[in-house]
Amino acid sequence: MNIQFANDLQVDVRDNVPLAEYTTFRLGGACRCLISCRTPEELEQVIARLVDEHLTFVLIGGGSNLVVSDYGVDCVVVRYLTEKPIIERTSDDLTVSGSTLLDDLARYAIEQGLEGLHTTHGIPGTVGGAVVGNAGAFGKQVGDVLKSVILVSPKGFKRKVSPPELEFTYRNSILKKTGDIVVSATFALRPGNRDELFKQREEILNLRREKHPDLNTHPCAGSFFRNIEPTSKAEKRQAAGWFLDQAGGKNLRHGGAVIFEKHANIIVKSAGCTSQDVYELHLKMAELAKKAFGLNLEREVRFVGKFAGVEAKEIIW
Ligand SMILES: Cc1cc2nc3c(=O)[nH]c(=O)nc-3n(C[C@H](O)[C@H](O)[C@H](O)COP(=O)(O)OP(=O)(O)OC[C@H]3O[C@@H](n4cnc5c(N)ncnc54)[C@H](O)[C@@H]3O)c2cc1C
Repeated sequence: MNIQFANDLQVDVRDNVPLAEYTTFRLGGACRCLISCRTPEELEQVIARLVDEHLTFVLIGGGSNLVVSDYGVDCVVVRYLTEKPIIERTSDDLTVSGSTLLDDLARYAIEQGLEGLHTTHGIPGTVGGAVVGNAGAFGKQVGDVLKSVILVSPKGFKRKVSPPELEFTYRNSILKKTGDIVVSATFALRPGNRDELFKQREEILNLRREKHPDLNTHPCAGSFFRNIEPTSKAEKRQAAGWFLDQAGGKNLRHGGAVIFEKHANIIVKSAGCTSQDVYELHLKMAELAKKAFGLNLEREVRFVGKFAGVEAKEIIW
């Protein structure tokens, strides 16, 4: 793709970039062009230019909740991620760029003696990705402490919204449908005991190390399906992994896509794995849960691009 349209922008622009390097699954073909933005200013400039040029694009953060097609993505990909956290404190509120890593924010909060984001310690990906998917753990999610968000629409319109407009539910928000981009977010936190917060962080990180795959040895995108909503107020949400495990899901595989030995709801990449293998394996898991328990599992991980056997109208779905 001719990338001259972005020549004068102060951002990294490259054509024909393999996306496997930019997802935690380490899978997927190339995109036509990859534009990397770190700051809100860079992002807004890039979106405005893409709108002017009538270019279709998809936005990614840490790529920790995605499976990119083996054929790649036939459009521009904008990556919004910064290694250097962009965070500002006002009273007990923290305002952070959508490009900042969620774990960097969680750590900064406790360094500042602020409580409220502790369950997000160790969750991969960016603040933007976390807001879109209402990321969380241990029954709490980012939407619980969010105060406001600055969004830019795919057409380049900027606005500030409050949480009710984002229609948060478990691992979901309206942003998955609208495609609006999280430029920055403000979280309302409360003072806490710094030493206890650090102790809690260590405990949570240890727990995650025990239960979750190490991305260096077991590339993946985290839990594939959402947990099951309770059928009454008295019940808690039930782990999709428990049902899959009971049904013998850990023995499933397709090509190089296998189930993580410690967690039946996580697909990991082994030798020779393709994105299509992951797609096929997730169908087998859904079928197993349906047969064994009559459950219709809902996918949490998103697919990007074309997969054999799917009539997807959207690029990201
Ligand atoms: C080992 C492992 C453990 C995990 N554990 C958890 C967990 O405990 N809890 C949990 O909730 N999740 C977990 N996840 C899933 C993942 O980390 C979260 O979904 C994360 O919030 C995704 O953020 P991201 O930046 O990587 O988003 P990406 O994967 O890059 O994108 C995901 C979606 O968000 C959109 N998006 C990304 N950034 C923005 C933005 N700035 N504005 C608008 N849209 C955007 C993308 O378009 C896409 O639709 C885990 C994943 C892994 C690999």
